[in-house]
Amino acid sequence: MEIGLKDDRFHDECGVFGIYGHPEAANITYLGLYSLQHRGQESAGIVSSDGRNLYSHKGMGLVADVFSGSDIERLHGTSSIGHVRYSTTGDSHIKNAQPFVVEYARGGIAVAHNGNLVNAALLRAEFEAYGSIFQSSMDTETIVHLIASSKETSLVNRVTSALKRVQGSYSLLFLTEDTMIAARDPFGFRPLSLGRLKGAWVVASETCAFDLIEADYVREIAPGEILVINKDGIVSYRPFPMVPYKPCVFEFIYFARPDSTIFGANVYSVRKKLGARLSEEHPVEADIVVPVPDSGVPAAVGYAEASGIPFEKGIVRNHYVGRTFIEPKDSIRHFGVKIKLNAIRDVINGKRVIVIDDSIVRGTTSRKIIKMIRNAGAKEVHMRISSPPTICPCYYGIDTPRSKELIASAQTVEDINEYITSDTLGYLSIEGLYRAVSEAGASFCDACFTGKYPIDIIDHAASQLALFK
Ligand code: AMP
Repeated sequence: MEIGLKDDRFHDECGVFGIYGHPEAANITYLGLYSLQHRGQESAGIVSSDGRNLYSHKGMGLVADVFSGSDIERLHGTSSIGHVRYSTTGDSHIKNAQPFVVEYARGGIAVAHNGNLVNAALLRAEFEAYGSIFQSSMDTETIVHLIASSKETSLVNRVTSALKRVQGSYSLLFLTEDTMIAARDPFGFRPLSLGRLKGAWVVASETCAFDLIEADYVREIAPGEILVINKDGIVSYRPFPMVPYKPCVFEFIYFARPDSTIFGANVYSVRKKLGARLSEEHPVEADIVVPVPDSGVPAAVGYAEASGIPFEKGIVRNHYVGRTFIEPKDSIRHFGVKIKLNAIRDVINGKRVIVIDDSIVRGTTSRKIIKMIRNAGAKEVHMRISSPPTICPCYYGIDTPRSKELIASAQTVEDINEYITSDTLGYLSIEGLYRAVSEAGASFCDACFTGKYPIDIIDHAASQLALFK
């Protein structure tokens, strides 16, 4: 995550993948990253080890564009970690691509991070006051400095002492010449799973990566767990005090892939339940249920099934356009929706349409979609959202805009209904959300919907203080 004290926008979402003990480690990591591409499309990177040296290749763009066959051949060795990064364009720079690799007094170390630290700017300022030089603007680099400056003698103790100083969300992979380490923050904000591929150990943000490489799912990496994997086997450490488990509920709503199992439940099944709950809470007489592809599809299936109203794929998505969300300016975003989505007149014309999407952020997408559906001849358009209103930014690794750009932070549902020009608008309630995700547990980080942040935003407080001074 980019460290920016000036705004409260956080900048990236990511996916990580690692493998230890496989003759084609880099190739498998490439495939793993390919299946995690939805978690980050801006840059991709792999670092491998042959036991003596680390080899790295990173680039801007999609996994398939960043790596050629010969790039992968040059990534020697039987262990490797990889990373895909998703960010807003302002911070897009190769220097921020991961895995982040350094040489320090004890050898090489690479790190791949999904999440966002909330005290990294403060820690960085401390290092810089003593003359440390940083190569990137990523919070992840702070972890590397903490490891390098640790007085501990073993790698696991150095990593542990570093992680005890950072606060925020992290699902991390480290690679040295002979060891891979996986770590998940004590709150367990972001997912991270362990798998087995023949004799090798694999770790991935989401289980869809295991399916592609035909690895067996072993278990989730526990919140606060540090897992050390090397030639002696696998050892688990739990060095942190227990805190409440707070996995990110938005992973279920939007971010994770429907074929993944995260936090103990399948994402598709949860999304269908969100849709079913939504139909109970906001029923309406209509002719068809149409999802906003792709994110609204499972919830629309659930809504249609529960309401008995036929499901129709009345909007087609052009799959060759990146997510509109990564476009930096509003002018481009508006344009992006038209490029990406088109309504099927034959399906929509003369119908009362229920449109299902997973969330409304700024409202621009919904407004455009409703206009498009009306232009295709819809008699009525009823917007249904399979999550509660997004009222607060996330500081733990999901890219949401600052509060004032979140339409629901200042406007009522009636105001939003008017703005997006739907006939009616219904959001899922917090209770409905919890009923749908209950299979995965009772406690989540839902700060984007409630403003209840499990960890204080320390960098933010520091920036306020600096402004005050
Ligand atoms: P907006 O036009 O700003 O209201 O964006 C709403 C659309 O963005 C919905 O279709 C969501 O599926 C999608 N969306 C929600 N959250 C995110 C996110 N963090 N990153 C990318 N897209 C998102």
